[in-house]
Amino acid sequence: MGLKYRRILLKLSGESLMGPQGFGIDSLKLQHYAIEIESLVKLGAQVAVVIGGGNIYRGLQAVESGIERVQGDYMGMLATIINGIALQGALEKCGVYTRLISAIEMKEVAEPYIRRRAIRHLEKGRVVIFSGGTGSPYFTTDTTAALRANEIDADILMKGTRVDGIYTADPEKDTTATKYDKLSFANVIKQDINVMDMTAFTLCRENDVPIIVFDINTVGNLVGIVQGEEIGTLVS
Ligand code: UDP
Repeated sequence: MGLKYRRILLKLSGESLMGPQGFGIDSLKLQHYAIEIESLVKLGAQVAVVIGGGNIYRGLQAVESGIERVQGDYMGMLATIINGIALQGALEKCGVYTRLISAIEMKEVAEPYIRRRAIRHLEKGRVVIFSGGTGSPYFTTDTTAALRANEIDADILMKGTRVDGIYTADPEKDTTATKYDKLSFANVIKQDINVMDMTAFTLCRENDVPIIVFDINTVGNLVGIVQGEEIGTLVS
């Protein structure tokens, strides 16, 4: 079966890793993502993952506790590496070949980021996990996802969330909210819809990288999207 998207960049937020305890890493969640990613690899898709760190630390948190923003951001980036190691472990348990890459050099645990090398891993069928964000403060892992999606020439940026797409209003607060199946980049801007932060969004828009916002917790969604099913909201 032909795949609609062959090379994908999956953005997994740190928050998506935390379970009911609301902090840290939940092993069942981790296992769920690993199994979903494994199915994608079995289909023949090339998978890169950008992992967030919000389940452990966010730079903005630092400011509240008297730590400087830049230092807080580095703490946040290190948190993504912790998550990256955890995801790598879970994928390896499923028998998936992986490479953990860090934008902040940490050669004992992760490869440094070398674009051509990362692409080579993808071509060989290895799941590439990008950790450490962009390596620079003042950015987010959404922006990292947009940046890496462009750099590796991904067919799609898949943003996994708790809701099944983009709505006219917050569906967790407004019961009359309805879901968009498709949106243009221009309409997202015109209607001031928050898909990703502006830096991330602009990177995708300027370089025509489509974004799919979808529910990451529903089994089979990742595979369905890659096979061309209409799941979530497509921004293109
Ligand atoms: N961060 C950063 N530069 C980057 C990516 C991330 O400084 O390129 C820091 C930032 O402080 C951020 C934290 O790392 O709050 C964790 O990332 P993020 O909040 O994007 O994680 P997510 O929301 O996806 O869990």
